[in-house]
Amino acid sequence: MMKYKRLGRSNLRISEIAFGGLPLFYLEREAAVGLLNAAIDMGINYIDCDEAGSQFVPAKVYEDTRDKLGLVLKTRRCEVFVGIKCMFAKKDEVAGAIDRALDYIFKGTGREVIDLFHLAHVDTDEKLSLLLSPQGGLAAVQEAQRAGKINFVLVASHNPAVLLRALQTGCFDVAEFPFTIIENEYSKKVIPYCREHDIGTVIMKPIGGGQLASVADLSLRWIMQHPVDIVIPGMRTMEELRGNVHAVVNGGPLAEGELRQLEQAGLAIGSEYCHRCGYCLPCPQNIHIVGQIDIYRSRLIDLARKKEVYRIAKEQGAGVAADCVACGACVEKCPFKLAVPELMKKIAAALGA
Ligand code: SF4
Ligand code: SF4
Repeated sequence: MMKYKRLGRSNLRISEIAFGGLPLFYLEREAAVGLLNAAIDMGINYIDCDEAGSQFVPAKVYEDTRDKLGLVLKTRRCEVFVGIKCMFAKKDEVAGAIDRALDYIFKGTGREVIDLFHLAHVDTDEKLSLLLSPQGGLAAVQEAQRAGKINFVLVASHNPAVLLRALQTGCFDVAEFPFTIIENEYSKKVIPYCREHDIGTVIMKPIGGGQLASVADLSLRWIMQHPVDIVIPGMRTMEELRGNVHAVVNGGPLAEGELRQLEQAGLAIGSEYCHRCGYCLPCPQNIHIVGQIDIYRSRLIDLARKKEVYRIAKEQGAGVAADCVACGACVEKCPFKLAVPELMKKIAAALGA
């Protein structure tokens, strides 16, 4: 039976497995709506929205969510809580995003409020400082809270040190971060801090962004053995949905042999695994190293689409893998000493051809 966990001081009671929304972006509307309805029927009561690259574009953001989740909310708003992600950091941009989300996604659903608003991708101290400044997004969020537009605030990060600094401000009710057997730095300080301060914990990328797909059930169960609240795997098919729900609801702690199996799977990719912490940035060639690796490794889009995304980024003047001059600055800064220049070469050969 599905368990519902109290999400820290927000007091929201959320299903221990919830829905990571990224795959919905790549599905046709009918398939996305079918999957969402099935998830809610299984007891999932939290949808964490994500729109891939579109969420960085003010003119596009929340259109896809409106057209898929928005449809479901028209009749099932009272059954789910919704997390709305915002990648922007400036006050006016964040204020615009809040109003747009309310207008696009919640209008006419009977409960026109954002349950959990995310200040997302807070991976660098620069972004955190901007968010916290008088011209930053947090001020817009707090004004929106006073106006009754937002209930609770979440900060999401791929960088444990920056996340901890954000949480220490006391401004956030919930923390969202990746946490797996190959990405477990968060167990040192972030998770204990959250427990001590009654901050809810949402685990994104619980299957390593798909890289632990062969041991997805073990990865989910490993996470749930730790003192965290909920996992939000992205799910593309009914089969994945059923498998993940079954693992979390019925799986229980890992047996010794299962733990060894998960460790082996982790070891096999560990040396090539990008933790998306962003320590390597900025790159002097203006390459968004994490973004390039993410596109290359994505299991959500096929090769043709990956090539298209790569080409569009290049046409728009963004640094792409082929611009890497192997200066090594990123390797020096990377705590995991990932061989980024070699990886950039591989990505350029695969996507730039
Ligand atoms: S090695 Fe390549 S990716 Fe790394 S910092 Fe230098 S140019 Fe950027
Ligand atoms: S390349 Fe290294 S520093 Fe850069 S995001 Fe990946 S793991 Fe972090």
